Amino acid sequence: MLRRVDLTSATGADLRRALPRAQVDVRAALDTVAPLVAAVKDRGYDAVREATLRYDGVDVARPRVAAGQLAEASAALDAGVRAALEESIRRARIVHEAQRRETVDVQVVPGGTVTERWVPVQRVGLYVPGGLAVYPSSVVMNVVPAQVAGVDSIAVFTPAQREFDGLPHPTILAACALLGVDEVYAVGGAQAVALAAYGDDALQIDPVDVITGPGNVYVAAAKRLVQGVVGIDSEAGPTEIAVLADATADPAHVAADLISQAEHDTLAASVLVTDSVALADAVDAEVERQVAATKHTERVRTALAGEQSATVLVRDLEQGLAVVDAYAAEHLEVVTADARAWAERVRNAGCIFVGPHAPVSLGDYCAGSNHVLPTGCTARHASGLSVQSFLKGVHLVEYTAAALAEVAPHVIALAEAEDLPAHGAAVAIRTT
Ligand code: NAD
Repeated sequence: MLRRVDLTSATGADLRRALPRAQVDVRAALDTVAPLVAAVKDRGYDAVREATLRYDGVDVARPRVAAGQLAEASAALDAGVRAALEESIRRARIVHEAQRRETVDVQVVPGGTVTERWVPVQRVGLYVPGGLAVYPSSVVMNVVPAQVAGVDSIAVFTPAQREFDGLPHPTILAACALLGVDEVYAVGGAQAVALAAYGDDALQIDPVDVITGPGNVYVAAAKRLVQGVVGIDSEAGPTEIAVLADATADPAHVAADLISQAEHDTLAASVLVTDSVALADAVDAEVERQVAATKHTERVRTALAGEQSATVLVRDLEQGLAVVDAYAAEHLEVVTADARAWAERVRNAGCIFVGPHAPVSLGDYCAGSNHVLPTGCTARHASGLSVQSFLKGVHLVEYTAAALAEVAPHVIALAEAEDLPAHGAAVAIRTT
């Protein structure tokens, strides 16, 4: 089912072009999404309502979920799911609390200090997907870092579901209630991102400062379009898993992990990178066997047969390392002898799962790490969602008269070199 890409005789320069990638990417979705984002900017919730009817098949007159509906969903939550969500929240809090940034005071010279303060953004819109699957786990992964950062105002946007009369899925509502989030909108897709960015006066939905969260290509495209109007986290689009494995890996485990991520979306990418033809053959056989028994067989088959998924054969693990760096996967598993040593040498990946006992599914729910991660090669420059995503660094500059006088000649010299003499004069007026 997985096509093979043989790079055993490829040179470094060939790598990125030779690697599997989806044709339907964020750039391709921009054409569909741009008019929708513009309509929401012009007409507010009326345009959102039309898009919800078109794409989600339900007419939602009032998108805000009432407090009573959140409480009802929480009361009806299955005990096992409640316990699992609580454990997921507990572990995520442990990791994200360690990401807090302290105020740093730096004395540059006697009498001259620069203090770096980390200030949370005021209001955020958190996107929780809910098209093909529902993601209460994404409520946890968005809300925990925002709360730890100290964000005052948190609004969650998640698709309206026809089967729940236009409300979001009850497990998502229950997860919001567990985390104490009470502003939840039954709006999904690109229209949710636009509504968060521009707000709606009539419905008293204030625009947010930052939008975060994963979603399909339309959500990722809308985030790209509103960037600048608001801040966004990374582009966390259709899921990707790359597995760097050698002959020591268990083919049944590797197959299970490739299938687990293909289950998200027909556009999801599953890529095995290995120097062992025997492992590749064994994984192929395991994939065939396991796909037949999995629940979302057709979705998984489509994702695995897509051009974005493949087995990449490499000469050795050194070349495998170059391949995974060029691919820059959202999720990378390293299942080799000395896995930790190889993992430490990887530069480009959203999150790295090391060794045989750390499958991506662990990170999806309960590792404590964040599962909102950069896709589509953006792991070359972007990080996963974290407390830092909701903070801004602000410098406080304080100088005494003596400290200013001491450095004044340098400021004036640089101002003159830039032909900005008024800059120099603003210092000279204080020091001469
Ligand atoms: P979603 O909530 O992202 O998208 C559903 C919405 O898409 C619908 O509400 C609808 O309004 C809109 N839509 C559907 N078809 C459309 C069309 N033709 N044109 C415009 N809009 C349309 O839910 P989903 O579709 O299930 O996707 C979830 C995605 O999130 C998956 O791709 C999954 O891999 C990804 N994901 C990524 C991460 C990450 O960190 N990268 C984490 C979790 C999930």
